[in-house]
Amino acid sequence: MTERIFNFAAGPAVLPLPVLEEAQRDLLALPGVGMSVLEISHRSKTFDEIILGAEADLRKLAGIPDNYRILFLQGGASLQFSMVPMNLLPQGGTADYIITGSWSKKAMKEAQRIGQVSVAATTEPDNFNRTPRPEEIKLNPAAAYLHFTTNNTIFGTEWRHEPDSGDVPLVADASSDIFSRPIDVKKYALIYAGAQKNLAPAGVTLVIIRDDLLSRIPKGLHTMLDYQTHVKERSLYNTPPVFPIYIMRLVLKWLIQQGGLEEMERRNKKKGDLLYGAIDSSGFYRGHALQDSRSLMNVTFRLPSEELEKEFVNQATRAGMDGLKGHRSVGGCRASIYNAFPIEGVEALVGFMKEFERTHG
Ligand SMILES: *Cc1c(COP(=O)(O)O)cnc(C)c1O
Repeated sequence: MTERIFNFAAGPAVLPLPVLEEAQRDLLALPGVGMSVLEISHRSKTFDEIILGAEADLRKLAGIPDNYRILFLQGGASLQFSMVPMNLLPQGGTADYIITGSWSKKAMKEAQRIGQVSVAATTEPDNFNRTPRPEEIKLNPAAAYLHFTTNNTIFGTEWRHEPDSGDVPLVADASSDIFSRPIDVKKYALIYAGAQKNLAPAGVTLVIIRDDLLSRIPKGLHTMLDYQTHVKERSLYNTPPVFPIYIMRLVLKWLIQQGGLEEMERRNKKKGDLLYGAIDSSGFYRGHALQDSRSLMNVTFRLPSEELEKEFVNQATRAGMDGLKGHRSVGGCRASIYNAFPIEGVEALVGFMKEFERTHG
């Protein structure tokens, strides 16, 4: 099959078509270089231009101030679950975690190996169908940092505004909604994101860290696990994931060309309205997330029975819509509609949903 279908997968996920086309066109030989990006040295001038270009575009796209360092690491968001507390949770200190789903729980579990951790809020009793209300969040003003997950990929919830952490450094796992809307980087001490949802293929993790945090890092960490190594060596201490960084560079260029983060927000709202509108106007489909916590990236919904859900996913796949099966902890269906997901795919899904309800409702 060479025809592209609509890919609703949660991650790795759809990439912009022009990015894939450019990568394909230049795969055998980068223009003027005569070698594939898969073959070049990470110490070459060519790669230097790629990684510096990615950093410059990140700063431009998201308005990242000069007092923040940008790192391209490996090990996924999951390694950041460990690196954040290793670097930022001092001996005898405590950290606050807001628990809004499986990923925040995993992040907290790693922090507990390093030191004292408190749950500042959790929506687990509601099966993570929402983000906490401000008055539910119990902050420790002496915490080393407050960690939260901006978008809960599995449950389909997303924060409207970041929690107010006061003077406590705010740390965010933004893996699944980074650059889906404007972000005020100044409010954060550290932002990390596995790239394979909204930025690039799997293999690179973006870390944005404020300068002043570097001085808190304890001595004696393993070299690769110490943010200072990667700051000093500009993410080139060892061989970085050259290809994912190259693709990220192309995705960033695409984002800027499309009109930047305001334009992404406009498109994502339009796609979300269309799909949530279809769910709300039917008695057949039922959304998992409460209205004010709904994610614009991962839309989770149920059908009246598990048999119908299975049939729905099977028929959708046959109709050219892949990846709609929900995560086992929520069940049902999940449509992931990241930046690169085209509105035509959402329109196709909504049409399919109406027809499925008519024939099975
Ligand atoms: C996918 C995901 C992760 C895990 O990312 P890896 O790069 O596979 O480690 C962590 N957090 C969130 C919010 C995610 O969506």
